[in-house]
Amino acid sequence: MKKLAALIALALMTQPARAQDPAAKWSLAIHGGAGTLDPAQMTPEKRVAYEAALQAALDAGAKVLAGGGEALDAVKAAIIIMEDSPLFNAGKGAVFTWDGTNELDASIMDGRDRSAGAVAGVKTVKNPILLADTVRTGSEHVFLIGKGAEDFAATKGFAVTPPAYFATPERREALERLKAEKLSALDVDHKFGTVGAVALDQKGNLAAGTSTGGMTGKRWGRVGDAPLIGAGTYADNRSCAVSATGWGEFFIRVGVAHEICARLRATREAKVALAGEDAEDGGVKAAEAQYIADAVMADVAQLGGDGGVILVTPEGDPVYSFNTTGMYRGRATSAGMREVAIFGGEARVSKAPNH
Ligand code: ASP
Repeated sequence: MKKLAALIALALMTQPARAQDPAAKWSLAIHGGAGTLDPAQMTPEKRVAYEAALQAALDAGAKVLAGGGEALDAVKAAIIIMEDSPLFNAGKGAVFTWDGTNELDASIMDGRDRSAGAVAGVKTVKNPILLADTVRTGSEHVFLIGKGAEDFAATKGFAVTPPAYFATPERREALERLKAEKLSALDVDHKFGTVGAVALDQKGNLAAGTSTGGMTGKRWGRVGDAPLIGAGTYADNRSCAVSATGWGEFFIRVGVAHEICARLRATREAKVALAGEDAEDGGVKAAEAQYIADAVMADVAQLGGDGGVILVTPEGDPVYSFNTTGMYRGRATSAGMREVAIFGGEARVSKAPNH
């Protein structure tokens, strides 16, 4: 009898991923930065280029999730595409520091066990999100910086990417203008081009990741919220997965990503506790998640900061919230939602990819 039970258990464990199960839920949201975007400045060509890049990132992540893959892999797949695109402030196309270098920050978190990895100030790693994930899986640490992080990368077989790879003329010109006209990073960047992704996979696991070059003209080893677990990135299967973009100092002070997750978790726990065992619905509704994200972003605004967040809930709702005029963003779900958008209030329904 015991043997039979063990055999059944084994058969269940070796079931293929629930890719075939039409009821299995997955959800994905991505961002490529928020900011004071002016529709008048957006040429049709630029718009097409940004939407295509967002679409490619969304499709890459959605493909992983639709195929029964892991939330973490979907997050990495989407972020790598945006890191490799010169359009975003992450990987290639990162903003310049005051000293004329590109210093990259990234973080990633697994909602299953809250394992996390992060790096800051790396200059020679093509895809910092992969190094952050290797810190998570291949070290006993969470956060490595600068040369130490690069030494660690070498021990894990990461190739050394020449710093010139990351530099683009547009970003260099922004630094020069910032210096010549004594401007702030916000004046020259107009938008925070940090990239991020959050995902729920078919097994119910959540993950979040964020990658950035920081802010133009940063100096003295300045690090923003993107690589800080709890500020720019957080994932917990009991609450949600969040990735942020914006004026990092304010996001750090509010602890944005963790704050959103904590409020969501408290809401869910309260609903379950109050509804009792017969409750059909102990879950958090999309409107409730939206309310919580908006409330935390209002807190950021109250301190004087701006930017935005993306999140997905265990219930499968992908949510955006931003207090800027726009945020480069996209979302896709197993229920058929597919959209990319740039300015506030718009949502372009995109082509369903082939999966
Ligand atoms: N949050 C990032 C930072 O402060 C900037 C961005 O979102 O683009 O470094």
